[in-house]
Amino acid sequence: MERLIESTSSGLYCAAGDFFIDPWRPVARALITHAHSDHARPGHAAYLTAAPGAPLVRERVGATVESIPYGERRRIGDAWVSFHPAGHMRGASQIRVEVRGRVSVVTGDFKRDADPTADLYEPLRCDELIMESTFALPIYQWPPVASVMDDLHAWWRENQEASRTSVLLTYAVGKAQRLLAMLNPEIGPILYHGAVERFVELYRAAGVALAPARKAQAEDAKALRGRALLIAPPSAQNTPWLRKWAPYSIGFASGWMRVRGARRRRGADRGFVISDHADWPALLQTIEESGAEWIGLTHGYGDALARYLREQGRNADVLRTEFAGEDHEMKSEMPDASEPP
Ligand SMILES: [Zn+2]
Ligand SMILES: [Zn+2]
Repeated sequence: MERLIESTSSGLYCAAGDFFIDPWRPVARALITHAHSDHARPGHAAYLTAAPGAPLVRERVGATVESIPYGERRRIGDAWVSFHPAGHMRGASQIRVEVRGRVSVVTGDFKRDADPTADLYEPLRCDELIMESTFALPIYQWPPVASVMDDLHAWWRENQEASRTSVLLTYAVGKAQRLLAMLNPEIGPILYHGAVERFVELYRAAGVALAPARKAQAEDAKALRGRALLIAPPSAQNTPWLRKWAPYSIGFASGWMRVRGARRRRGADRGFVISDHADWPALLQTIEESGAEWIGLTHGYGDALARYLREQGRNADVLRTEFAGEDHEMKSEMPDASEPP
């Protein structure tokens, strides 16, 4: 059947408007959902993204990026397009495409939990829903964010009593800034790895309130070790840069921490289940509220969710894409993280 948006070798394509959404090969016109590297790639001739995400996408692609406010409709060819908050990170969008009364929504990456650094996810109705399914297994259900932050702060205090540095490993773009917006700076000094710095600056420049924190310098280790909380990308683990902060405890903040084996494989002392993606109940709620007659799945556990949806009598398919998911984003994000910040 003819869909408004189809999966092609270059990316998700809308023929009626002759544009792509988050394409992975160079194209003439790219609509970008958010600034993560598997969605915002360099090399396209023209970019359009939601206004709050424009400086972040610009940083990522190194090109001129046109922006549009959330909710504003724009005609492209025979399609009307608009961007709506996806809640995943600052500026992240769902893209709504309407052609002759028929509506398709591409969620990009999304979450429905509150996040002080991002606009709250907006439920949208549509005929065709193209949705991420990174955590589409029933085991992935997120605890309340406030209780996870309580655990994290308690861990930081315990470490201080034992004179250990608290090393919080997490994805450097989006998640690190979200954590900075929620951490309590009264407990002690907060520092971060160089890989986190540029996007902290961009968030601050946009007026997002973050806890006082700065990039860790070589001399900080001696003065602040045992008291500080240090935010770093996963690739900083087992580097000389990190060893200067010993003794330390390693905490890992990710949705993958919901599964015990993931924490062990990461070599973390503590796992904090905090994700920028929708969990299993939120994915099902989104499908239900959309009213979509067809669901196309990208990322992660698409096969499992497609099977489940078909058993429920729904029409669902897995789309072949080159989006990587949170785990891969974390690895590909930090090519420079083994070097000194
Ligand atoms: Zn993402
Ligand atoms: Zn993604």
